[in-house]
Amino acid sequence: MRAGAASLTRPEPAPPLEATPVTELHGVGPGTAAKLAALGIETVLDLLFHLPLRYEDRTRVHAIEDLHTGRAALTCGRIEDARVRFGRRRSLVVTIGDGTAAMAMRLFHFNENQRRQLRPGRRIACYGEVRPSAGGIEMVHPEYRLIEDGAAAPTSDRLTPVYSASMGLGQTLLRRLTDQALDRLERNPDVAELLPEAIAVRHRLVAIGHALRAIHRPPAGTDPEAPLHAEHPARRRLAFEELLAHHLALRVLRRRLDARQAAGFGRGDALVQRFIDSLPFRLTAAQHRVVREIRADLARPRPMHRLVQGDVGAGKTVVAALAAVVAVASRRQVAMMAPTELLAEQHYASFRGWLEPLGIPVAWLSGRLGSRERARAVAGIADGRTAVAVGTHALFQSQVAFAGLGLVIVDEQHRFGVEQRLALRGKGERGGLLPHQLIMTATPIPRTLAMTAYADLDVSVIDELPPGRTPVDTAVAPSQRRSEIVARIRRACAGGEQAYWVCTTIEESEALACRAAEDTARELAEALPDLRVGLVHGRMPPAEKDAAMAAFKEARTDVLVATTVIEVGVDVPNASLMIIENAERLGLAQLHQLRGRVGRGARRSACVMMYDGPLTGMARSRLEVLRATTDGFEIARRDLEIRGPGELLGTRQTGLARLRIADLVRDLPLLRDVERAASDLLAGHESRIAPLVRRWIGAGADYGRA
Ligand code: ADP
Ligand code: MG
Repeated sequence: MRAGAASLTRPEPAPPLEATPVTELHGVGPGTAAKLAALGIETVLDLLFHLPLRYEDRTRVHAIEDLHTGRAALTCGRIEDARVRFGRRRSLVVTIGDGTAAMAMRLFHFNENQRRQLRPGRRIACYGEVRPSAGGIEMVHPEYRLIEDGAAAPTSDRLTPVYSASMGLGQTLLRRLTDQALDRLERNPDVAELLPEAIAVRHRLVAIGHALRAIHRPPAGTDPEAPLHAEHPARRRLAFEELLAHHLALRVLRRRLDARQAAGFGRGDALVQRFIDSLPFRLTAAQHRVVREIRADLARPRPMHRLVQGDVGAGKTVVAALAAVVAVASRRQVAMMAPTELLAEQHYASFRGWLEPLGIPVAWLSGRLGSRERARAVAGIADGRTAVAVGTHALFQSQVAFAGLGLVIVDEQHRFGVEQRLALRGKGERGGLLPHQLIMTATPIPRTLAMTAYADLDVSVIDELPPGRTPVDTAVAPSQRRSEIVARIRRACAGGEQAYWVCTTIEESEALACRAAEDTARELAEALPDLRVGLVHGRMPPAEKDAAMAAFKEARTDVLVATTVIEVGVDVPNASLMIIENAERLGLAQLHQLRGRVGRGARRSACVMMYDGPLTGMARSRLEVLRATTDGFEIARRDLEIRGPGELLGTRQTGLARLRIADLVRDLPLLRDVERAASDLLAGHESRIAPLVRRWIGAGADYGRA
């Protein structure tokens, strides 16, 4: 930083970098500007927040004998030999020696000019990845430069950043432009600072100007990996700010929502009590607690926006039904949406079973209803005869108009993204009143992560399973033991149990999976002639699918062969054995969901995860985690470690999957501080928020519009 002079004489007010278009930089004409815009870079500030992906070290010259294969390095020597070789492909091979050893530079593409220049005796510097070759080591198409005798090797005094680039927008140009942007920043280092001093001090954050310079141009002597480490001060500062921006965007969204109105419901005690009394079981303490939280929200005249997390089998559906009862007691309609037909149907069955005896009419709406049935369903929803409508996305098509929608319930949230969450919110708005919203998910994510990923939601956790559940015994077995496994099914079913057999495929091809399921069903029917084998997959006609599910549920079939369509929500308590084929191809969360289909009754349940061929290390550790625990939170924590948050949250789930520098695994420990800093900014530094969000998220994302 330039000291002294600047602080004595008042500097000219520099135009803010976010208001300086990139076209003001040297070398940016309309063509380059368009290419930059395609990368989301329109201003000088945008350029500064286009952060390096990694670094190259050209700060020192390595002796050839010190080169390591597999690593990139700068080296310098004299050309000893240059000749065209005719191997499998013609190439120009230049032998370079520096007195310690020799290496080859190999060019597959070269012209006459290069052949003439690359002649023995000339000095040359090369930067590239070192590879083993037949005669020793080589660099294939390194960056190279001929240097005059006596001239110094072209070392750099900074690590060389590598940016995400594009056609016609190469590294050299991006480096030249960031150099200019950094110069402008240097002249006025405070312009980019949006964090109040107190927050920076409390959380030990270096100044933004310093962080940007250090991350774009780490000084010589820095390990090229170092700026990628969690503790690196510049990286930490930028990661903190990025997480803060995402968190703030959601908090602002939430605040806007809180300013909106909703109908506050009466308590509906009488109806609620009748509902509870009619259940064949007692609610767990955790269910009671969550129901209390929901009822408190529903009593307020502003929209509830609550996420209920609960492990597979924790009993979320009945909690949703209770919320519906409260809404209905206040003469409001309820929409319950599920991500798949199968699940929607099952909810429809549960809701009817619970609600119709209380005189609450429940209707069903899905994309595959016949036109007459559909018209009837839509009419019932429009005139208010239908109190509770259960269905798929079809519920929110424009033709569907509710007479008085008061509560929207979305099940298995991880199938829906943040944007859909927003779109849903808008539906059902009437007379300035928004419906309450309840979201249910079986994806348990660590609490700190939830605070950031779901900062626009209140979170309730059902952290207890209903009593009498027995943990599922999980075994891992190679596919060669198939006949033993089939024998095990025979024994279990002879004793009155039921079993699932889940088929998967390498590619995510529904067609292939369905065929595999069909083949397996045929095989099992042959191998188990005394048993009744059912089949359900995504490509079956709906009526057949329903019939297969109903038959299994009513124990008219013993074995149900299925694709992963049964992953979500399917509930058949008498099923106590699950076989998963090719379990090594599935992720932890998905396996946990699948396994959650058993262990729902009082009987001891088991799950056999079959695998094919030798397991990779990652697959082995995944299966081992599942064998060792049935705790969804523990599994989620391990999943986060093994695969990262993008997978866990679903890539469309939140903008967090598109982080530029922060990493939710590495930066999990920052999240508490991020939340606190966000509260401080919301309380006292409003004006900083919009520019922070714009800087990191841009104006594009819906929830980025702070
Ligand atoms: P999930 O949380 O995975 O959606 P469900 O709502 O499908 O779980 O519940 C799983 C099963 O547990 C259902 O058969 C449901 O009726 C039953 N159940 C829910 N709550 C209780 C409880 N408190 N005691 C006993 N069984 C319960
Ligand atoms: Mg469920």
